[in-house]
Amino acid sequence: MKIICIGRNYAKHIEELANERPENPVVFLKPDSAILPNKNPFFIPPFSNDVHYEVEVLIKINKVGKHIASRFAYKYYDEIGLGIDFTARDVQQQCKEKGLPWEKAKAFDGSAVIGNFYNKNDFDLKNLSFQLLKNNEIVQDGNTQSMLWKIDELISYVSQYFTLKKGDIIFTGTPAGVGKVSENDVLIGNIEGLKAFQIKVK
Ligand code: ZN
Repeated sequence: MKIICIGRNYAKHIEELANERPENPVVFLKPDSAILPNKNPFFIPPFSNDVHYEVEVLIKINKVGKHIASRFAYKYYDEIGLGIDFTARDVQQQCKEKGLPWEKAKAFDGSAVIGNFYNKNDFDLKNLSFQLLKNNEIVQDGNTQSMLWKIDELISYVSQYFTLKKGDIIFTGTPAGVGKVSENDVLIGNIEGLKAFQIKVK
Protein backbone atom coordinates (compact mmCIF):
# COMPACT_ATOMS: atom_id res chain seq x y z
CA MET A 1 0.00 0.00 0.00
CA LYS A 2 1.01 3.59 -0.33
CA ILE A 3 0.25 6.79 1.54
CA ILE A 4 -0.50 9.86 -0.53
CA CYS A 5 -0.34 13.16 1.33
CA ILE A 6 -1.73 16.55 0.43
CA GLY A 7 0.02 19.74 1.53
CA ARG A 8 -1.36 23.26 1.80
CA ASN A 9 -5.06 22.41 1.73
CA TYR A 10 -6.23 24.86 4.42
CA ALA A 11 -5.71 28.61 3.89
CA LYS A 12 -4.91 29.43 7.53
CA HIS A 13 -2.19 26.76 7.66
CA ILE A 14 -0.64 28.17 4.46
CA GLU A 15 -0.51 31.57 6.19
CA GLU A 16 1.03 30.27 9.42
CA LEU A 17 3.96 28.76 7.50
CA ALA A 18 4.15 31.77 5.15
CA ASN A 19 3.79 29.45 2.14
CA GLU A 20 2.48 30.35 -1.28
CA ARG A 21 -1.08 29.33 -2.02
CA PRO A 22 -0.69 26.59 -4.65
CA GLU A 23 -2.49 26.50 -8.00
CA ASN A 24 -2.93 22.76 -7.62
CA PRO A 25 -2.79 20.47 -4.58
CA VAL A 26 0.73 19.83 -3.26
CA VAL A 27 1.29 16.07 -3.28
CA PHE A 28 3.92 13.85 -1.68
CA LEU A 29 4.14 10.19 -0.65
CA LYS A 30 5.10 8.24 2.43
CA PRO A 31 6.23 4.60 2.19
CA ASP A 32 4.45 1.92 4.25
CA SER A 33 7.51 1.86 6.56
CA ALA A 34 6.43 5.32 7.77
CA ILE A 35 3.39 3.89 9.55
CA LEU A 36 3.63 4.10 13.32
CA PRO A 37 2.55 0.64 14.54
CA ASN A 38 -0.68 0.71 16.50
CA LYS A 39 -0.24 1.60 20.20
CA ASN A 40 3.50 2.27 19.78
CA PRO A 41 4.91 5.54 21.13
CA PHE A 42 6.31 8.05 18.64
CA PHE A 43 10.06 8.47 19.07
CA ILE A 44 11.42 11.88 18.09
CA PRO A 45 14.08 11.06 15.48
CA PRO A 46 17.67 12.09 16.27
CA PHE A 47 18.03 14.13 13.05
CA SER A 48 15.46 16.76 14.03
CA ASN A 49 15.01 19.32 16.80
CA ASP A 50 11.66 20.52 15.53
CA VAL A 51 9.20 17.72 14.81
CA HIS A 52 5.68 19.06 14.29
CA TYR A 53 2.31 17.33 14.59
CA GLU A 54 -0.15 17.82 11.71
CA VAL A 55 -3.58 16.30 12.32
CA GLU A 56 -5.35 15.27 9.11
CA VAL A 57 -8.51 13.55 7.90
CA LEU A 58 -7.70 10.23 6.21
CA ILE A 59 -9.39 8.45 3.33
CA LYS A 60 -9.03 4.70 2.82
CA ILE A 61 -9.26 3.65 -0.83
CA ASN A 62 -11.45 0.57 -1.39
CA LYS A 63 -10.64 -0.45 -4.99
CA VAL A 64 -8.32 0.11 -7.91
CA GLY A 65 -8.84 3.30 -9.86
CA LYS A 66 -7.08 5.80 -12.09
CA HIS A 67 -8.20 8.97 -13.83
CA ILE A 68 -11.21 9.10 -11.50
CA ALA A 69 -13.64 11.93 -12.17
CA SER A 70 -14.63 13.92 -9.06
CA ARG A 71 -18.26 12.94 -9.47
CA PHE A 72 -17.37 9.24 -9.22
CA ALA A 73 -14.76 9.59 -6.47
CA TYR A 74 -17.26 8.66 -3.72
CA LYS A 75 -17.28 5.09 -5.10
CA TYR A 76 -13.60 4.65 -4.24
CA TYR A 77 -13.81 4.95 -0.46
CA ASP A 78 -16.12 3.72 2.29
CA GLU A 79 -14.13 4.77 5.32
CA ILE A 80 -12.62 7.95 6.71
CA GLY A 81 -10.28 8.34 9.63
CA LEU A 82 -7.87 10.65 11.37
CA GLY A 83 -4.10 10.61 11.65
CA ILE A 84 -0.94 12.64 12.07
CA ASP A 85 1.55 13.61 9.39
CA PHE A 86 4.63 14.08 11.61
CA THR A 87 7.00 16.53 9.95
CA ALA A 88 10.62 17.35 10.77
CA ARG A 89 10.08 21.06 10.15
CA ASP A 90 13.77 21.98 10.37
CA VAL A 91 14.70 19.33 7.81
CA GLN A 92 11.78 20.37 5.60
CA GLN A 93 12.92 23.99 5.74
CA GLN A 94 16.40 22.99 4.54
CA CYS A 95 14.86 20.95 1.71
CA LYS A 96 12.59 23.83 0.69
CA GLU A 97 15.47 26.31 0.64
CA LYS A 98 17.47 24.05 -1.64
CA GLY A 99 14.49 23.02 -3.76
CA LEU A 100 14.98 19.39 -2.73
CA PRO A 101 12.32 16.69 -2.19
CA TRP A 102 10.67 16.51 1.25
CA GLU A 103 10.88 12.78 1.99
CA LYS A 104 13.54 13.00 4.69
CA ALA A 105 11.31 15.48 6.54
CA LYS A 106 7.99 13.75 5.91
CA ALA A 107 8.43 10.05 5.20
CA PHE A 108 10.68 8.82 8.00
CA ASP A 109 9.82 5.81 10.19
CA GLY A 110 6.88 6.52 12.46
CA SER A 111 5.87 9.71 10.66
CA ALA A 112 2.43 8.40 9.68
CA VAL A 113 -0.04 7.92 12.52
CA ILE A 114 -3.14 6.13 11.28
CA GLY A 115 -6.01 6.10 13.75
CA ASN A 116 -9.36 4.35 13.67
CA PHE A 117 -11.48 4.32 10.54
CA TYR A 118 -15.22 4.92 10.44
CA ASN A 119 -18.01 4.36 7.93
CA LYS A 120 -18.22 7.55 5.86
CA ASN A 121 -22.01 7.30 5.72
CA ASP A 122 -22.18 8.13 9.42
CA PHE A 123 -20.80 11.63 8.76
CA ASP A 124 -21.35 14.77 6.73
CA LEU A 125 -17.99 14.78 4.94
CA LYS A 126 -18.36 18.42 3.88
CA ASN A 127 -18.73 19.48 7.51
CA LEU A 128 -16.49 17.18 9.49
CA SER A 129 -15.08 18.61 12.68
CA PHE A 130 -11.80 17.26 14.07
CA GLN A 131 -9.33 18.22 16.79
CA LEU A 132 -5.88 17.43 18.03
CA LEU A 133 -5.29 17.66 21.76
CA LYS A 134 -1.79 17.96 23.16
CA ASN A 135 -1.66 17.16 26.87
CA ASN A 136 -5.44 17.64 26.98
CA GLU A 137 -5.41 21.09 25.39
CA ILE A 138 -6.86 21.64 21.92
CA VAL A 139 -4.01 22.71 19.63
CA GLN A 140 -5.65 22.12 16.25
CA ASP A 141 -9.34 22.54 15.55
CA GLY A 142 -10.29 21.86 11.95
CA ASN A 143 -13.31 21.36 9.75
CA THR A 144 -13.40 19.91 6.24
CA GLN A 145 -15.53 22.95 5.26
CA SER A 146 -12.25 24.90 5.15
CA MET A 147 -10.49 22.58 2.69
CA LEU A 148 -9.30 24.33 -0.48
CA TRP A 149 -9.78 21.04 -2.36
CA LYS A 150 -12.52 18.72 -1.13
CA ILE A 151 -12.08 14.98 -0.63
CA ASP A 152 -13.55 13.98 -4.01
CA GLU A 153 -11.45 16.58 -5.83
CA LEU A 154 -8.31 15.28 -4.12
CA ILE A 155 -9.06 11.69 -5.15
CA SER A 156 -9.62 12.84 -8.72
CA TYR A 157 -6.44 14.89 -8.76
CA VAL A 158 -4.05 12.32 -7.31
CA SER A 159 -5.51 9.53 -9.47
CA GLN A 160 -4.34 11.41 -12.57
CA TYR A 161 -0.78 10.62 -11.44
CA PHE A 162 -0.95 7.48 -9.31
CA THR A 163 -3.14 4.43 -9.74
CA LEU A 164 -5.05 4.10 -6.49
CA LYS A 165 -5.23 0.65 -4.99
CA LYS A 166 -7.32 -0.96 -2.29
CA GLY A 167 -5.84 -0.08 1.11
CA ASP A 168 -4.06 3.09 -0.01
CA ILE A 169 -4.53 5.99 2.36
CA ILE A 170 -4.80 9.67 1.52
CA PHE A 171 -3.81 12.28 4.12
CA THR A 172 -5.90 15.31 3.17
CA GLY A 173 -3.81 18.15 4.65
CA THR A 174 -3.65 19.88 8.00
CA PRO A 175 -5.50 22.92 9.35
CA ALA A 176 -3.75 25.71 11.27
CA GLY A 177 -2.20 25.18 14.67
CA VAL A 178 0.73 22.91 13.85
CA GLY A 179 3.47 22.87 16.46
CA LYS A 180 6.40 21.13 18.01
CA VAL A 181 6.22 17.89 19.98
CA SER A 182 8.32 17.23 23.07
CA GLU A 183 9.16 14.13 25.03
CA ASN A 184 6.25 12.89 27.18
CA ASP A 185 3.58 14.77 25.20
CA VAL A 186 0.33 12.89 24.79
CA LEU A 187 -1.51 13.52 21.52
CA ILE A 188 -5.18 12.65 21.14
CA GLY A 189 -7.12 12.94 17.89
CA ASN A 190 -10.91 13.34 17.87
CA ILE A 191 -13.23 13.33 14.90
CA GLU A 192 -16.84 14.35 15.52
CA GLY A 193 -16.33 13.55 19.19
CA LEU A 194 -14.89 10.07 18.56
CA LYS A 195 -11.39 9.33 19.78
CA ALA A 196 -9.48 8.13 16.72
CA PHE A 197 -6.02 7.79 18.30
CA GLN A 198 -3.85 8.45 21.33
CA ILE A 199 -0.06 8.68 20.98
CA LYS A 200 2.66 9.11 23.54
CA VAL A 201 5.81 10.99 22.41
CA LYS A 202 9.20 9.69 23.54
ZN1 ZN B 1 0.51 17.30 6.32
